[in-house]
Amino acid sequence: MSSAPLRQARIDLDAYRANLDLVREWMDPVAVMAIMKADAYGHGLEPIALAAVDAGIRWIGVLTVPAALRLRSIGVGEDVHLFTWQHDPALDFRDAIDSAVDLGVSNTAELQRIIDAVDQRPARVHLGFDSGLHRDGATPSDWPALVSLAIDAQRAGRIEVVAAYTHLAESSDQDDADAVALFDVAVEQADDLGLDVPMEHVAASLAGLERKEFRKDMVRMGANLFGIPGADGVSAADLGLEPVMTLTASVAKTKRVPVDTGVSYDYTYRTASETTLALVPVGYADGVPRLAQGHIEVAIGGRRYPIAGRVAMDQFLVDVGDDDVQTGDTVTLFGTGEHDEMTVLDWGRSLGTIGEEIVCRIGPRVPRFYEGHDIEGRVGEYLRGDRS
Ligand SMILES: *Cc1c(COP(=O)(O)O)cnc(C)c1O
Repeated sequence: MSSAPLRQARIDLDAYRANLDLVREWMDPVAVMAIMKADAYGHGLEPIALAAVDAGIRWIGVLTVPAALRLRSIGVGEDVHLFTWQHDPALDFRDAIDSAVDLGVSNTAELQRIIDAVDQRPARVHLGFDSGLHRDGATPSDWPALVSLAIDAQRAGRIEVVAAYTHLAESSDQDDADAVALFDVAVEQADDLGLDVPMEHVAASLAGLERKEFRKDMVRMGANLFGIPGADGVSAADLGLEPVMTLTASVAKTKRVPVDTGVSYDYTYRTASETTLALVPVGYADGVPRLAQGHIEVAIGGRRYPIAGRVAMDQFLVDVGDDDVQTGDTVTLFGTGEHDEMTVLDWGRSLGTIGEEIVCRIGPRVPRFYEGHDIEGRVGEYLRGDRS
């Protein structure tokens, strides 16, 4: 009907579902919170969340209250807990509380603003502890005051303390063990002050996989579910996880050029012989780093070709030699690896970063296409609906 899109990210909901099932099996009986911050790591929040809910997920982490409210507005009911932990200092918490959005809180000023916003029903609160990452979380010296305020507010019926949590630096096994020991002390201290902590959550993908003793009552998993595990020297395939996003484009143009032709800005690449250059319409505006030459190869017709020259804002070139590459041919930038293409994990390693950064930066100009059997159900209804 129509020709292949210039560029697209295909999101395989069956792969997401399979990863979810596998991870839940590994963690059983510990609960899994599916982390979907940053628009579900660039995969699209709503479709991923609906697929996860249909698969039976009861905890979703979305970072912000507005993202949680978006999910409530498309029918994610209160049987699914939506955890948020980064709050705009000007945020009015009323809608979040009325919609039973779970609030991660790490300082008394923020907790007081939540308490003041309570109207009909108590706010659901997770107390954040800083065990060494030094991001959010109350420091050990600020922790007792946070706990005391929470105890008073809970007695007054204004909040319900759901959990205590922390986030690890993943710097070394020893650092993480020290951090968890510090967290354990903080939970004991809360208990001594009179707070019964109903639930504890500490581990994300890496620690959840590798450190069974850190799983506590729930693990918060993002990367694993998108098929981009961060474990050193382990591929997604080794673990049985499947990458969820495949980034493709169509060759926009080919041209024959002579030997020693300078390619793209700055001529950082020169042809070694007469050759064909293929133009791929994806640039750094779409999330391919400008300095990807020398690190990234793309697949066309089951063969790999290196990026030639600087990646421009909207496009880059590959040197395809004398191969029969035509306008309209599919270029796979990253995918599952099954057809000899790089995976996003490979991209992360080659570019000196992690797969998460790559998928999160795939820009809004790249349309996401959803596939998999979930598309028949609520995800399909949502995608077909009026989303303006
Ligand atoms: C991002 C994040 C996670 C998930 O991390 P992954 O390594 O992708 O599993 C868990 N908890 C918090 C607080 C996070 O910010």
